[in-house]
Amino acid sequence: MLDTGRIVIVGAGLGALYAALELAPHPVLVISPEPLGRGASSSWAQGGVAAAMERPDSPEAHAADTQRAGAGTVDSRVAAMVTRVARDHILDLTELGTPFDRDAAGNYVMNREAAHSAARVVRVKGDQAGHRIMQTLITAVRAARHVQVLENTQAVRLETNEDGVSGVWISRADTPSAPVLIRTPAVLLAGGGSGGLYAHTTNPPRIRGQVIGLAARAGARLADPEFVQFHPTAFDIGEDPAPLATEALRGEGAVLINAEGARFMLPVHPDAELAPRDIVARAIFAETQAGRRPMLDTRAALGAEVLSRFPTVAQTCARAGIDPVTEPIPVAVAAHYHMGGVEADMQGRSSLRNLWVCGEASSTGLHGANRLASNGLLEALVYARNAAQDIAAQLQTAADCAEIAPEFPVGGCPMDAKALTTLRETMTAFVGVRRDAAGLRRALAILARLEAEQAEDENFVNMCATATLIAAAALARQESRGGHYRDDYPETDPAQAQRTRITLAEALAIRARVQEDFQ
Ligand SMILES: Cc1cc2nc3c(=O)[nH]c(=O)nc-3n(C[C@H](O)[C@H](O)[C@H](O)COP(=O)(O)OP(=O)(O)OC[C@H]3O[C@@H](n4cnc5c(N)ncnc54)[C@H](O)[C@@H]3O)c2cc1C
Repeated sequence: MLDTGRIVIVGAGLGALYAALELAPHPVLVISPEPLGRGASSSWAQGGVAAAMERPDSPEAHAADTQRAGAGTVDSRVAAMVTRVARDHILDLTELGTPFDRDAAGNYVMNREAAHSAARVVRVKGDQAGHRIMQTLITAVRAARHVQVLENTQAVRLETNEDGVSGVWISRADTPSAPVLIRTPAVLLAGGGSGGLYAHTTNPPRIRGQVIGLAARAGARLADPEFVQFHPTAFDIGEDPAPLATEALRGEGAVLINAEGARFMLPVHPDAELAPRDIVARAIFAETQAGRRPMLDTRAALGAEVLSRFPTVAQTCARAGIDPVTEPIPVAVAAHYHMGGVEADMQGRSSLRNLWVCGEASSTGLHGANRLASNGLLEALVYARNAAQDIAAQLQTAADCAEIAPEFPVGGCPMDAKALTTLRETMTAFVGVRRDAAGLRRALAILARLEAEQAEDENFVNMCATATLIAAAALARQESRGGHYRDDYPETDPAQAQRTRITLAEALAIRARVQEDFQ
């Protein structure tokens, strides 16, 4: 056991690093499984950050679009707060050195994305936003004397006592080890979402709901876990994770066609390719299921410019032997973003004392049932700052403390690859773009079996906890709304227009009832 006066931040993506900087001069310990910059969704974000930067756009219009996309369960106070401060965060990131695209007069180049009523997304060199923002923050964190980064470590469990959370158990990330307890006055969870719980995902390999799961196991309440966003246009080229063909391409006029050359979004929604993500995702899924291979066609809209303006997309095409200047790009649906997570109030406080949460691991009420494009990075920025300020206010004085150097005892076990594959395939097959009671019940029964078989592996148990929460809440919500679509309840029910709040104990009770039926 090690005692530290440092605030422990679990994760090293945008939320974690921005919060670490905001916490200065309070000493901070960042738990980072990979070298900084690797393994985080933040570095992979291609589209950009949504913010109403100039009139005639406004925070009010941004909030209204956020609420519309969220399908009836966005918390309007949260949407108003986040959109109001969005511009300040872009200016602050610019000051830190992020090279957002500007025009000759120095104004931010604003880009249009799906379901936004205005061009409202700031980018870096087309599709480099996440990478360049992260590089900027990493440089600042490396130079910050108050931040210690423990690379190659991961959190596996929270320690609690009668006062709330009192520490974090961490282990090595690259190889199994027994965990070590780090005692701390405050923990900020910034461990990302859950996309990798699905076999088809755009998320980096470590983003598999472990951090949400470890909070749930400690008793933290979750909100909206059933709401998972599936990205409509992941490259369908057999890679895991599936590379993303950014939404910005459709913002630039790229269209969706099927193997017959038909623009299948035209009869589906008045906004066609720019319809909300869940609608586009289900339409693409339907084309895939029907064997009419869906494809993204950038030829007329971008021509050869796709190569220079979207370098990440161009690289992926080159790797797959596709020339986007002359041929359309095969696409498929992939788990992309988790609207649900550890419930957080406006200050990023969880339901447990001494535990804060920000970024995709949290559920703040901003996204409701369906996230508006480019609101993910924005939420991570806003709540990282809010949580950091709240933690600093509660700790009052900056403690002076030495760096720690944990030594990990031999122990732990490697993850069972077969069990992991079964878990991910179960989530894609039964808890994915289209759900029904029979599939969700089957998923819960499989999860119970897997968890019992892998009980020694805490990382796996954390994943199972999050997967169980998603499936149980999806079973309980007997309607379709936003990212949650039930074949057996295809309509949206106005009487169910509330956010879900659920604990792991409640989800396990649902799972236990299902198991009884299966026995
Ligand atoms: C391909 C892609 C493109 C996207 N494009 C956009 C976009 O254009 N605009 C937008 O707004 N959003 C976008 N998103 C979503 C957005 O990137 C994420 O929601 C956001 O980056 C989340 O930030 P975060 O800090 O919460 O988590 P992340 O950036 O995912 O960081 C999580 C961190 O937690 C660490 N971690 C995981 N498990 C553990 C553990 N057990 N212990 C300790 N640390 C752990 C990870 O290694 C990582 O460092 C995109 C996502 C993807 C995958």
